[in-house]
Amino acid sequence: MKIIPDVIWILLGVVIFLIVMMPGYHQRAEAVQRAAQIKVYSVEKKGYVMSEIVSKTKEEWKKTLTKEQYHILREKGTEPAFSGKYANHHEQGVYRCAGCGLDLFRSEDKFESGTGWPSFTAPIAAENVRNQADNSLFMRRTEVLCPRCGGHLGHVFDDGPKPTGQRYCMNSAALQFAALPKK
Ligand SMILES: [Zn+2]
Repeated sequence: MKIIPDVIWILLGVVIFLIVMMPGYHQRAEAVQRAAQIKVYSVEKKGYVMSEIVSKTKEEWKKTLTKEQYHILREKGTEPAFSGKYANHHEQGVYRCAGCGLDLFRSEDKFESGTGWPSFTAPIAAENVRNQADNSLFMRRTEVLCPRCGGHLGHVFDDGPKPTGQRYCMNSAALQFAALPKK
């Protein structure tokens, strides 16, 4: 009958180990989450940088965004075609996320899609957008999100022009344009 006390000692050891280690584990996990960083391309730095994830509550977003921006970025809304300020916009510069300012698209990659929404053939870098399957409204689409603040930007379709064949169909309200001097 010696085996029973041995098992009890081992179990007791495991329980004590867990009690001692768990609080520390949770604290470390929280710290990692708070300082979560992603690698993104920066037009200003002309290279990749590490950038901290932007995380805000609904109330905080409502304070920093307009009603329309909040609806599109945080509630996955879509502005009416031809209503947005960038559908017919041709200045030289960078289109950034209206939620967190992350560089998203260059004016060089903007094209006339005729859809009434600002359209691009490619993002600034693959790392600067996040694609996600969207099967809402009985359609199979690919949603495009900001990888830093999680804001909804629009959708990407594979009927775009060469060379990428992609059409990033964005909401003007999800973007913030910044002019850049011509090279
Ligand atoms: Zn963002």
